[in-house]
Amino acid sequence: MRSSAWFTAAELEEASTLLQELIRFDTSNPPGDEAAAIARLAEHCRALGLEPKIVGAYEERPNLVAKFAADPARRTGRPLILSCHIDVVPADAARWTHPPFSGHDDGTCIWGRGAIDMKGFATMAITALGKLIREKVPINRDVIFVAVSDEEAGTRLGSKWLVEERPDLLGGDPEYVINEVGGFTVHQNGHRFYPVQVAEKGVAWLTLSIEGKPGHSSLPAKDSAVSKLARAIEAIAAAKLPWHAGPEAMNFLKGFAKPQGRLAEMVAPLFAHPVIGPRLLPLAISDPSRRASVEAILRNTANPTCLHGSDSINMLPGCASVDIDGRLAPGQTADDLIRELHAVVRPVLGNDYDLYVLQESEAVSFPTDTALYREIVATMQSVDPAGHVVPSIIPGFTDSRNYAKLGAHCYGFYPLQLPPDLDFASLFHGDDERIPVAGFHWGIETLTEMLFRFLR
Ligand SMILES: [Zn+2]
Repeated sequence: MRSSAWFTAAELEEASTLLQELIRFDTSNPPGDEAAAIARLAEHCRALGLEPKIVGAYEERPNLVAKFAADPARRTGRPLILSCHIDVVPADAARWTHPPFSGHDDGTCIWGRGAIDMKGFATMAITALGKLIREKVPINRDVIFVAVSDEEAGTRLGSKWLVEERPDLLGGDPEYVINEVGGFTVHQNGHRFYPVQVAEKGVAWLTLSIEGKPGHSSLPAKDSAVSKLARAIEAIAAAKLPWHAGPEAMNFLKGFAKPQGRLAEMVAPLFAHPVIGPRLLPLAISDPSRRASVEAILRNTANPTCLHGSDSINMLPGCASVDIDGRLAPGQTADDLIRELHAVVRPVLGNDYDLYVLQESEAVSFPTDTALYREIVATMQSVDPAGHVVPSIIPGFTDSRNYAKLGAHCYGFYPLQLPPDLDFASLFHGDDERIPVAGFHWGIETLTEMLFRFLR
C-alpha cells in the first residue's frame, strides 16, 4: 500500500483537529441539533473562499451546501457532489472507554461518536476539496460539498428536504454523488477488499394488527389479540423469506470470490440458485454475524420492532399491533414483501389480521460502467495494487436514495485503511466508535488523488 502525497504532515494534523472539533459537537439524532457543527463547517468553507449556503426546514436543523464552480470554458460534465451527514446516532457514555463526544486522540485512533459515521468523511471531503481549491486545479465540472442533517432518523429534514425543496443548490441535475459506506478495508483470507457501494436495499415499514375482544383480563382469555400477535411475531422472526439473488448481490459475491482461488470462483455463481444458494451460505460463511450481513442482501427481511397493546395492565385490548422494519431487495416492492409475510402468518392466524404499509421506498442501484466508478477502481489499484475493489450493496439506506431521484449515480466511497483487527461493522453505530488516524490520513490522500485524476 502506498499513499499519494498531496498533503504535508501539518495539513493532515489540521484535518485531525477539525475532525476532533466536529466530534465535540453533540449532534445525536434525536434531537439532531446540528446547527453549531454546520456553522463550524461553514466557517471552514469561507476560509477556503467558498460561499456556503445554509438552508433547511428549521433553523436548528440546517443543511450546508458549498459549490466550487468550474470555469464555464472548461466545464464538460454535470456536477459532482461530495455528501456527508453531520448528525450521529446516540451514544451511551457508560459503555464507552473514552467519552463519546471527546474526540480523544490516543495516538493511534481518534475516538468518538461520528468518527466513522460520518464526520470522518465530512472532514476528508472538505480537506480534499480545499486542496483542489488551493492548487487552483482547472476542474472540468462543479464540485458541490453538501453536509446534511437528519440522516440517521430517515433523511426527512436533510437530503430529502434538499432534493425536494432546493435541487437548484445541488446543481439541478448532478451526475455523481460520493457518499458513505464503501472504500474501507475488508480483510478476508489474507486478501484486502474495498467494497464500493453501488446499491442499497429499499425500505418497507409495515404494521401488522390484530383485532380481539376487549374485556377484563382477570378472566381466562385463550385467544386474545396479544397472544395471537405473539404467535405471528414468533413466526415472522423464525421465517426465512424467499431468496432474491439479484445482479447487485451476485456481483458482490463474485467480486469477493474471484481472488480466493478457482474453487471459490466456481462456487460463487451457485448462490444465485433459489434452493442451492440458501444451503450453501452456512457452508461458505461460518461466522454468524458476517453470514447475517451477506444473507441480508439475498432476501427481503422483516424484523418486528415496535409493539402496541393494551394501555392498561388489567384490560384486554381491542387491537394489538406490531411495526415491522421490512427491507427490500432490488426490484422488490412492499406488496411483494406483504405477500411473502402472508405466507408466513396465514398458517398461524388464518385471515384474521391486517398487514399494511407505513412507508415504502424502493432499492436503488447504480451502474458501474461510468467514468467515476472506473476512476475509483483505477485509483484504488494504484494506491493498493494488491487490493480488490468490489461493487457492493448494503442492507441499510443512506442519503443516496434521495440523490438518486435527481438522476445522480451515487457511490459509497469513503476510503479508509483499516487494520485486520478493526472490523468496520463493529464501529458503525457501535460503542467505542473510533477512526485509525493513519488510515484516515491515507483516505484523505486517496480521495484527493481520485478527485485530481477525475476532475482534470
Ligand atoms: Zn452514516
